[in-house]
Amino acid sequence: MNLPTVQFTKEQELFREEVRTFLQQELQKGTFQTKCDSWLSGSDPAFSRIIAEQGWIGMTWPKEYGGAERSSIDRYILTEEFLAIGAPVAAHWFADRQTGPLLLRFGTDYQKNFFLPKIVKGECFFAIGLSEPNSGSDLASVKTKAEKVEGGWIVNGAKTWTSNAQDAHYMVTLVRTEPVTEKKHQGLSQLIINLKSEGVTITPIRYLTGEHHFNDVFFDNVFVPDEMVVGTLGNGWAQGLAELAYERSGPERILSTFPLLNEAMEELKRQQDIEGLAQISKLVAELWSLRNLSIGVAKVLEEGGEVGVSAALVKSVGTKFEQKIPEIVRLLLDVYPQLHADRAVDRYLAESTLHAPGFTIRGGTSEVLYGIIAKGVLAG
Ligand SMILES: Cc1cc2nc3c(=O)[nH]c(=O)nc-3n(C[C@H](O)[C@H](O)[C@H](O)COP(=O)(O)OP(=O)(O)OC[C@H]3O[C@@H](n4cnc5c(N)ncnc54)[C@H](O)[C@@H]3O)c2cc1C
Repeated sequence: MNLPTVQFTKEQELFREEVRTFLQQELQKGTFQTKCDSWLSGSDPAFSRIIAEQGWIGMTWPKEYGGAERSSIDRYILTEEFLAIGAPVAAHWFADRQTGPLLLRFGTDYQKNFFLPKIVKGECFFAIGLSEPNSGSDLASVKTKAEKVEGGWIVNGAKTWTSNAQDAHYMVTLVRTEPVTEKKHQGLSQLIINLKSEGVTITPIRYLTGEHHFNDVFFDNVFVPDEMVVGTLGNGWAQGLAELAYERSGPERILSTFPLLNEAMEELKRQQDIEGLAQISKLVAELWSLRNLSIGVAKVLEEGGEVGVSAALVKSVGTKFEQKIPEIVRLLLDVYPQLHADRAVDRYLAESTLHAPGFTIRGGTSEVLYGIIAKGVLAG
């Protein structure tokens, strides 16, 4: 990997302070509660609207759509601060991270003008409809089908593991618009489906914690107007791959359990446990290296470079790191993990332990990523 190193400017350090102070103040006001894995499972539409009022959703997008044209490194800083404190940012997460960039790249003027300003205001949330009951890693085998009718498409099929569909207004949905041929990556398209449409049924799949985070989503003769086709018909595979680069390398692939790491460090400091702090410091050193890689990928993305392999690498190593934190913390501290514990470290440990199995599955399993990395290395 040949990734650039990034030095934060003075303005960027000040921005970090601004975000950190704001979040601390909101926390003290009781606006939100902290949790581990908050970017995916901490959905709070009211909190997302508060974030929108700060101008912090779609902050890198063009001003004509309500964005602030700030750099992706500014967005990286903002995201790090959300994750470090464990703020509930899941409601607007997908729209901010990938639907906006997808529409900016492939969307029609109508789609950009209709969706982007609403996303920026925290009024429009998106879900990502890729996986199906028999189609996860092998996405080209999706069976959800769209058939052409006058003025649009009729969609039938089902998506599964759909994060946050219960709070989302729309779903970017990968569907088959042409019959399968030997070239099964062809004939797929991305449709924006209004989740309030007639024929859409959303049913919860509960987490190990009992939380309602992801869902089964069924489509029974759902009408989708022509203007909701994203990009080029039949090009859904290539467009979806472009989206994955945004999905795989961000700080959320290394910081899902950071609140636990931080709180464990504070406990060990309180207990003056030098040996325990030495163990934790090894994790901090690892985190620092991963973070440099992840920021490097963000920089290359901003410059329009190719990041498929390096994003896969960051995700595969980063998610193993996130999983390791609860394993190590439970050996270092006298803990009593419970989801509703008063002591933060007990609560964070319970959340982290029960969420951790998903880290190396969501956004592409580690085994699939190893395949991408190996092919990339062989291709030189
Ligand atoms: C917390 C969470 C949130 C999610 N949110 C969403 C969402 O919002 N939208 C969405 O569409 N999906 C979502 N998913 C689904 C996720 O993307 C899939 O679970 C994932 O892509 C794997 O697909 P699968 O579950 O069908 O497993 P499979 O693809 O059936 O894989 C089963 C096993 O086989 C291995 N395997 C498969 N293919 C290969 C290969 N080529 N080489 C080596 N090993 C292989 C896998 O690594 C895995 O161990 C979410 C998942 C989780 C855990």
